[in-house]
Amino acid sequence: MDEFWTIQVGRFKLTTLEFGRFKLDGGAMFGVVPRMLWQRYHPADENNRIEMALRCLLVEVDDRRILVDTGFGQGRAQKFKNMYEYTGEDDYLVPALKKVGLTTVDITDVIITHLHFDHNGGSTIYKETQPQPAFPKARYHIQKQQLEHARSRFERDRASYLPEDFEPLLDAGAVELKDGEWELWPGLDIVICNGHTPAMQLPRIRGDRQTVLYAADLIPLHSHFPLPWIMAYDLYPLTTLEEKRRLLPQAAREKWVFIFEHDPFYVAGYVEETTRGFSFTKL
Ligand SMILES: [Zn+2]
Repeated sequence: MDEFWTIQVGRFKLTTLEFGRFKLDGGAMFGVVPRMLWQRYHPADENNRIEMALRCLLVEVDDRRILVDTGFGQGRAQKFKNMYEYTGEDDYLVPALKKVGLTTVDITDVIITHLHFDHNGGSTIYKETQPQPAFPKARYHIQKQQLEHARSRFERDRASYLPEDFEPLLDAGAVELKDGEWELWPGLDIVICNGHTPAMQLPRIRGDRQTVLYAADLIPLHSHFPLPWIMAYDLYPLTTLEEKRRLLPQAAREKWVFIFEHDPFYVAGYVEETTRGFSFTKL
C-alpha cells in the first residue's frame, strides 16, 4: 500500500501520511457485530486483536499547510507501546514530513478530530523533559466540547486521554477553541459528529467535481459503512447510527471519497448504497 497517497481536489492537494500500525480488540472495534462476520475483513490474532493503521492527512492550499490529526504519540513509554503493539518510530512526524519536502515548522494549522491519544498523540513532543507543541508555528484547532470532555476524566473513556498530549498546547497559547461547525478555508469545512465522543470534527474538502471526507472514528475502517457496524468504544452508538444515516446517502449519491484513518488495507474508498444497505467500494 502507498505510504503517501495523494489526490487533488480543486485547489487543495491532499496527501495521506502513514506512520505505523497498532492493534486493538476486534470485538471492541465492531460493537454488536459477531466475530464470525467481522473476521472475514479483519483477521484477528491469538489475542482477538486486529491490525490498525495510523494515517493522518496533509492538506495544502495556497500558503496553508494543514495537518489533520497527529498519530499515536512521539516517544511513548515502551510499556505503553507494547500494550498496543505499536510499530511506529519515536519521532515519526519528522521523517514523514521530510518525504513530502516539509518540516514541522512549515505546518500552519493542525486540525485535531478529537483528543484520543491515537489521534492527537503527535501534537506535542518532549524537549528535554517538558512536552511542547510539536509544530511551533501552527494554530491547533480543537473543539471546546471535546476539550471539556477530555478534562472531565469520564470513567468510561478516560484511558483514551493523556493530558500531556493537549495541556501543553493550551499552556503555549497555540490552541483555537472551536464551537461547532466551522470553515478553515473556502472549500474546507468541518462536519461535527457526537456519537463517538462529544464534538468530533471531520474535515470535508470540496472541489467542483469531488468531495473528500476525512472520516476519523466515524468510519475508521473500510468495513464500518453498514449502519450497525459501530465501535463499542463509541459513547453514544445510537447517535453514531443517526449520523451515518444522515451522511451516507448524500455521500453515496455524490461519490464522496472517504479517507480511513485506521484501515490497514485501504487508504480511501467510496460508499455504495444498495437495497441491502451501505457498503464499501474501491476507488
Ligand atoms: Zn477515537
